[in-house]
Amino acid sequence: MKIFKKLNIEISKDIGKSFLTSVMGGRLNKQIEEMLVEKRKICIENISPKLIFDKYDIEKIIGDKVYFKSGNVFTGPNISRILKNSETAIIFVQTLGNKIDVLITEESKKGDTLSAIIMDAITTNLLECLGKATAKIIKTEGITQKGWDSTCSYSPGQFKWTIEEQKEIFSMLPCEKIGVKLNSSFLMEPFKSSSGVYGFGPSELISKIKTACEICPKKDCIGRRTKDF
Ligand code: SF4
Repeated sequence: MKIFKKLNIEISKDIGKSFLTSVMGGRLNKQIEEMLVEKRKICIENISPKLIFDKYDIEKIIGDKVYFKSGNVFTGPNISRILKNSETAIIFVQTLGNKIDVLITEESKKGDTLSAIIMDAITTNLLECLGKATAKIIKTEGITQKGWDSTCSYSPGQFKWTIEEQKEIFSMLPCEKIGVKLNSSFLMEPFKSSSGVYGFGPSELISKIKTACEICPKKDCIGRRTKDF
């Protein structure tokens, strides 16, 4: 198991703009552009990126079930499809920390819905930046043999993997060590956190699915990605 409590992430100058533009229906007015600049600074100053992950050997995949040698089991048609022929999997949880959740909640409580929406869009993109940084670390750890490669990442809550499977992920990692817990709805707290799995094995045998979005039918989803991390 590995834990990173101080991660540096690469943040583009216009972070949040593209996602916010989609959220706002395609264009931003001058007031929103100015608020974006102001809130971007606040968001970046108040994140604390952290990562925990561990490697698990896959024993077998039968039907919708992925059996790990540890006794853990993942269930779902797409997780078994994505991990097919992988020999190992890295299970991870990453977070931007609690402070940013508190700030967004405060804006909502004050009734400043626009600020909360802008900060939410910025931090959604910051979580993607964190995903890019952690993918590098995880893939370096998982690709242990010549000719091996990694699958795309896949997370509970994505199409055809129920959010309840978070419980299995949290039984595989001591997430409290990076300050993340599951609430009774199987959502992570802090909310600006994400979890998931990458599979690893011989490149000619493992899944070639590029992103979980590729096998998701929600074509008009504003979060749709064509490239994995
Ligand atoms: S298209 Fe949207 S809903 Fe479907 S997996 Fe991608 S982000 Fe999730």
